[in-house]
Amino acid sequence: MRVVVIGAGATGLGVAWDLTLRGIEVIVLEAQEVGAGTSGRFHGLLHSGGRYLVTDPSAAKECYQENMLLRDIASEAVVVTGGYFVKKYGDDDVFESDWLNQAEKLGVPVHPVSVGDLRREMEMLTEQIERSYWVPDGVLEGFKMLAMLVQAIQSRGSQLLEHTKATGLRLEGDRVSGVEVEERSGGTRVIDCDAVVNTAGPWAGLVARDWGLDIKVQPSYGLMLIFANRRLDKVVNRLKSPSDGDIFVPHQEVVILGTTDVAQPSPEAPLPRRSEAVRLMELGTELIPDLGSWRVLRGFNGVRPLYEPSGITGDSRTVSRDFAVLDHSEQDGLLGAFSVLGGKWTTFRLMGETLGNQLAKTLNVDSPGRSREIAIDARATRPVTGAVGDRGALLCECEQVYEADIEQTASSAMQRRFGTWFSMGPCQGTFCAHRVLGRGSEESFTQELTTLRREREHGLVAVGWGANARLIALEQSIAAQSLGEEL
Ligand SMILES: Cc1cc2nc3c(=O)[nH]c(=O)nc-3n(C[C@H](O)[C@H](O)[C@H](O)COP(=O)(O)OP(=O)(O)OC[C@H]3O[C@@H](n4cnc5c(N)ncnc54)[C@H](O)[C@@H]3O)c2cc1C
Repeated sequence: MRVVVIGAGATGLGVAWDLTLRGIEVIVLEAQEVGAGTSGRFHGLLHSGGRYLVTDPSAAKECYQENMLLRDIASEAVVVTGGYFVKKYGDDDVFESDWLNQAEKLGVPVHPVSVGDLRREMEMLTEQIERSYWVPDGVLEGFKMLAMLVQAIQSRGSQLLEHTKATGLRLEGDRVSGVEVEERSGGTRVIDCDAVVNTAGPWAGLVARDWGLDIKVQPSYGLMLIFANRRLDKVVNRLKSPSDGDIFVPHQEVVILGTTDVAQPSPEAPLPRRSEAVRLMELGTELIPDLGSWRVLRGFNGVRPLYEPSGITGDSRTVSRDFAVLDHSEQDGLLGAFSVLGGKWTTFRLMGETLGNQLAKTLNVDSPGRSREIAIDARATRPVTGAVGDRGALLCECEQVYEADIEQTASSAMQRRFGTWFSMGPCQGTFCAHRVLGRGSEESFTQELTTLRREREHGLVAVGWGANARLIALEQSIAAQSLGEEL
């Protein structure tokens, strides 16, 4: 049996991993590159469930259970940091007691921590904290987990086709027999298959439209700000109904402040706006009063693929964070077509397993899911070791990336960035992008540098105050020399 999976984000790769472990041949189609959608644009929180205890209890429970499981089966992409929920004077007491009751009911561990102890550990937090609680939040290294999943499915015989866009279905009667695709060259062909799974995230509604179906996906974007220096070692959440600017997540060498939640018609991530960045900074100071003195590196938006079966309301905060698996044979008479919608990065494995169970039942496949037991291999994503002198020239000072690190990663500029973090540090690629991309072919250099430069600059301009204003001016004058861009 062969299944085509549309979209190589967390959901698609989670589905591909589950099906591959059942002995099914999988071909994953990705219109761009792995992680080009929301899965490369999130906070990196491995949810404990704490954020959704009151507003979305089933998502909260799933997040907690997956959090615990991923620590075992994908430990190299998980950092067990722990996190705090802090209630400020004046925040809703009823919400706090509902939150504590729900934690007990759902079995999510929550322990009170004295405010004195909390502020001794995190002096930067506001003095206005009334109570605080520890939760098992963690950090999910998304780029690494994506690379691990790709390696895991490929080493077991499944395939990934990047720059290959699904454009429609071929049917035999009411049964799916192939997926029409458009390749990078513009050529088209049909890939034979027995089933197809739509895991196109915010684009899932468009893919369904190509199938003649109407699926209510509500894209909603969220802005996040990245701060240089890891000044916090644990996640900090505000203890109130989820809202803008209420979470800080430490991630590698930086801290990420999130987020907003704005419904939008398009699945594409919009450019980050300065007015929103300023507002997010202001909200962040409610927890960290001195935030204005922290160096902010950039802003970036991700788009949530929220699923609202009863229709789109326009208020995306009220849409469930839970996921849904649709079997289109049941509801639309299309045998062999499935969609997996909504959910969180944290629940990607469970989403894959739920789809796998449904697909096996509908198509009479007699093999149980095994993704709970089998560890996701991390060999290819381990950093290069050895003495610095053996690793070739230093290409990116900010993230300490050497020639050997770049050689170990895939060849596209984006995968190199995800694999090594070059261009993600304080210089935002102003210097290292020339050195890293200059190692590729002469034809690709200008195009790759221009694409990366634009992407980095949009994120910088949104936070272009203070030191960043000077960096933008420097970066533009270098681009004027190397790319012939107008100043
Ligand atoms: C601001 C923000 C913060 C978040 N923070 C967290 C967090 O901290 N923790 C957490 O657990 N979750 C978080 N999430 C949620 C999580 O990131 C998403 O739920 C998850 O990444 C969605 O993955 P996906 O695979 O469904 O979608 P995507 O990652 O968008 O993948 C879909 C893929 O499909 C491809 N595609 C589209 N159309 C086609 C086509 N026709 N043919 C082939 N390929 C196609 C796209 O190119 C894309 O790569 C956050 C989300 C946002 C927006």
